[in-house]
Amino acid sequence: MEERAEMTQRFDISVGKLLGGDVGPLAAAPLTASPAKGTFFLETFGCQMNDHDSEKVAGLLLARGYRQVETPDAASLVLYNTCSIREKAAQKVFSRLGEYRTKQAAGQVIGVLGCVAQQEGEEIFERAPWVSLVCGSASYRKLPELLSQVEAGNQRVTGLDNDTDETFETEMTRRDNPWRAYLTIIEGCDKACSYCVVPYTRGPERSRASDSVLRELRQIAELGYSEVQFLGQTVNSYADPSPRKMTFSELLLAAADAPGMRRVRFTTSHPRDFTPDIVDAIDAQPKLCNHVHLPVQSGSTRVLREMQRTYSREEYLEKIELIRNAKRPISITTDVIVGFPGETDADFGETLSLLDTVKYDGLYGFKYSPRPNTPAQSMPDAIPEEEKSRRLTALQEKQREIQTGKLAEMTGQTFELLVSNKSRRENMWSGHTSCNRVVSFSAQQKELLGRYVDVRVTSAGPASLAGECIE
Ligand code: SAM
Ligand code: SF4
Repeated sequence: MEERAEMTQRFDISVGKLLGGDVGPLAAAPLTASPAKGTFFLETFGCQMNDHDSEKVAGLLLARGYRQVETPDAASLVLYNTCSIREKAAQKVFSRLGEYRTKQAAGQVIGVLGCVAQQEGEEIFERAPWVSLVCGSASYRKLPELLSQVEAGNQRVTGLDNDTDETFETEMTRRDNPWRAYLTIIEGCDKACSYCVVPYTRGPERSRASDSVLRELRQIAELGYSEVQFLGQTVNSYADPSPRKMTFSELLLAAADAPGMRRVRFTTSHPRDFTPDIVDAIDAQPKLCNHVHLPVQSGSTRVLREMQRTYSREEYLEKIELIRNAKRPISITTDVIVGFPGETDADFGETLSLLDTVKYDGLYGFKYSPRPNTPAQSMPDAIPEEEKSRRLTALQEKQREIQTGKLAEMTGQTFELLVSNKSRRENMWSGHTSCNRVVSFSAQQKELLGRYVDVRVTSAGPASLAGECIE
C-alpha cells in the first residue's frame, strides 16, 4: 500500500543497491550539544499503514511524557519508521542514517522501526552502530517495554517477533491529518505473493475485533472527524475475531452509521476477497465512498500465476464487472508491477490491453524490485533495468491517455468535496470527492477548511481538475 490513495500517477524510478557496505562515516563524527531530554523526532517512509503506525507511536510517546520536535537535531530520541517494499525505499533509510550520523548530538538515541527493522534485524547494529533500537511493526505492542530499556541506557534493544496474533492498539493516537482519520482494521498479510516482503516484515494477518474498531471510530467522530479510512494490506480480508463475527461489509455499514460520520473509505482491497456484498453495501449506503483500489499487478494470467496472486485475468475482470454494475459509479484504481522475472513482451501487452478494458481512474506503476526472502528473488529470466523502464513509461503513457479522457468526462459535473486545503492564491481551495479525486476550486467564502461544499468541475488536465463552488 505504498500508494497514497490519490488519483495521480506515480512514477517509480528505483534503481540501485541495498545493503552493500557501510552507511556513512563511522569514525570521528562531531558531536553537538545534547538536545532536551524527553523529546522525540519521528520520520515516516512508505505507505499509509506506516503513517498511521507513526501516529500511534507518537501517541504512545506523548502519553509517556515525551514532547515531539520538528528536527532530529532537537530530539533526544530520533525514530525512523521505515519501508522496504522496494529496494529504493529501503536504501533511503540507510542513507538517512548515514547522513544523520555526521550530525548526531551527544546522548541521542536513534531507533529504526518498521519493515527495514524487521527485514534487517540486528544487522542494522552492525551497519549503523549508533542505532540502539530496532523494532518491526509486529512488535509495536511491546514498544513501551522496549522504550523503558532504551531509557535505562540499553544500547541494543530489539523487538523482532513476527509470530503474534495481537494487533497494535494504543490508548492514544496523535493523528496528523486533520480531515481524514486512518484506522487500521487488519494487520499483516497471509497471502504469499512471490515478489512481496510484507508477509515477512509485517507478520501474519490479524484482524481487530469489530467492537474495538467501532469504539475507536466513535471516538474519532467525537474529535470532529467526519471521514475515516479503514486500512489493511488486504483490508477486505477482514475476519472479525470476536463472537460478533461481523463481515467486512457489515463493518463498513456499521461505521457509516456512527454519529457524525459522513464518509467511510477503505484500502487496499485484494481481488480474491472482493465479494458482491461490498458493492451492495456501497450501493445501499452513500456514506461509503465510491472508490475501490483493486491492485491487479499484471494483465497476464501466466505472470499472475508466477506472482502467486491467486486469480486469473478473467477472474479479476469478473470483479471489475461486479463494481461496474453498481447502481452508482465507483471509481477504480490499481497497482501494476512491470518487468517481473520472465515477463515477455506479449505478457506486458496483456497488461496494456487490460488497461484499455478496465479504463482505470488511477494507476500506480512500479518496476519489479527483487526483495530478500521472497521466492521471486531467485526466479530466472530477470528483465534488464532499461527494459523495465521502457515498460513503465509505456504503461504510464497509456494510463495518462485513459485518465485524460476520464477527467474530461467529469467536466460540467458537480461533486461534493471535503475541503482540505487553502491555496496561497486568494479564494482558491481544494478538496477530495467521494471517489477520491482532488479538485481545486474558487470560492468567495472566508473559511471552508473541513467543510463539505458542492463544486462544479469547469476544466480538466491530464492529472487535475478545477472547478467553482456552487454553494
Ligand atoms: N496488499 C496490496 C495488494 O495485494 O495489492 C499491496 C500492498 S504493497 C505494500 C503495495 C504495492 O507495492 C503492491 O500492490 C505492488 O504493486 C507493489 N510491490 C510490492 N512488492 C513489490 C516489489 N517487490 N517490486 C515492485 N513493486 C512491488
Ligand atoms: Fe504483499 Fe500480496 Fe500481501 Fe499484498 S497481498 S501485501 S502484495 S503478499
